[in-house]
Formats: sequence, C-alpha cells, structure tokens
Amino acid sequence: MQFQMKNNFKKAAQEIIKAGNRMDHLNLALATSGNYSIRLEDNTMAITVSGAHKGKLKESDIMCTDLRGLPLESKKPSSETLLHCLIYDLYPETNAILHTHSVACNVLTRSIEGDGEIFLSDYEMLKAYRGIHTHEVTVSLPVFKNMQDMVVLSEKAISVLNKNKLPAFLIRCHGIYGWGSDMDEAIRVVEATEMLLLCEMHQKKVK
Ligand SMILES: [Zn+2]
Repeated sequence: MQFQMKNNFKKAAQEIIKAGNRMDHLNLALATSGNYSIRLEDNTMAITVSGAHKGKLKESDIMCTDLRGLPLESKKPSSETLLHCLIYDLYPETNAILHTHSVACNVLTRSIEGDGEIFLSDYEMLKAYRGIHTHEVTVSLPVFKNMQDMVVLSEKAISVLNKNKLPAFLIRCHGIYGWGSDMDEAIRVVEATEMLLLCEMHQKKVK
C-alpha cells in the first residue's frame, strides 16, 4: 500500500527539527544520541530515524510509524520507538516525547543497582512539571536498568507508568525520557529534568 503522508506530518517534522536545535544548543544531542517524536492523526507518529544527528535534522530524517512502532515508509525508526509507543498508549494527553542522553543522568544513575528511583525535593524548578505549583514537594522519577531488549524494558516501564502520572523517567547510564501535551511542554520537561539532575549531581560533590 502506498504511504500516505499525514496532513500534519510537515508541521510535526519542523517542530522536531526545532527541538533538535534546542537540545543541541544545550549539549543534549551529542553524537547521534536521543530520539524525538510527535503524535499524528490516525494512530501514527512522526519520529526521528535511527542514526541521525539531532542537531542537524532534515525533514528526511523524520519518518512516520504507527503507534505500535511499525514503519509506514521504507526507513528505519529509532531503536527505542517502542518506548514512545508505550508513553502515547498510557498517556492519551501526551502528544510529544523527547529522549536525550543526559550526562547528569548517566553520572547520577550509575550507583543505582537494577531499577530504582531518584527523589527531587524543594526545587523551584519542579514547577516546570504539570500540576506542581510549589517547591514544597518531592517528585520521584523512576530509573530503569538499561537494556537493549526494548520489549522487556517497555514491559517494566508500563507497570510503573500505569501506577503514577509521571512527567519523565530515566534509564540507568543512558538518558532521560520526557513528554508533554505539545513539543513546548516536552522541551520544558526535559530542560527542567536536566537542570534538576545537574543540581543533584553537583550537590553530591559539595556534601
Ligand atoms: Zn537512548
């Protein structure tokens, strides 16, 4: 069947390219790391292809898959596409997802054996997360053990994300997943999470 370009694909691709420039500016798109997506109509999404540098994205580096991760054109989507699928499936209000290979996340999660969590308390920046209006709060972000088997990793993430409405999760020695109702919110969540993790990392040095 001929691939039918979704009506909103071009707009989504432009937003993904812009997000890549922003992540690159913040040093969050090193090498070809990370992957980004936007939910489209008819249970499909626009997602970055495997292996593209996210600071130099072109429209041809973004492709369409269905929400099970199956390609709708002859390109190879990111190897982590299944993680995007599970977030869209569990959180219907989510329309954009960013994944970055954060240095702070890599450093902080190294000491966590297996799955765990990171607690963030008293930071004004926590108000960047939807529904939080005060610094007097503790947010727990889950940390999943890194693995190459996306099916197993997805199953673990589903069981945790099902229980709580979360803005983001971490993968040990790997990176951050953050999302939002649109790309602006996804960028805000990832920027805030990166800043909060940097604070935690520096805090360990001054203790
Ligand atoms: Zn990754």
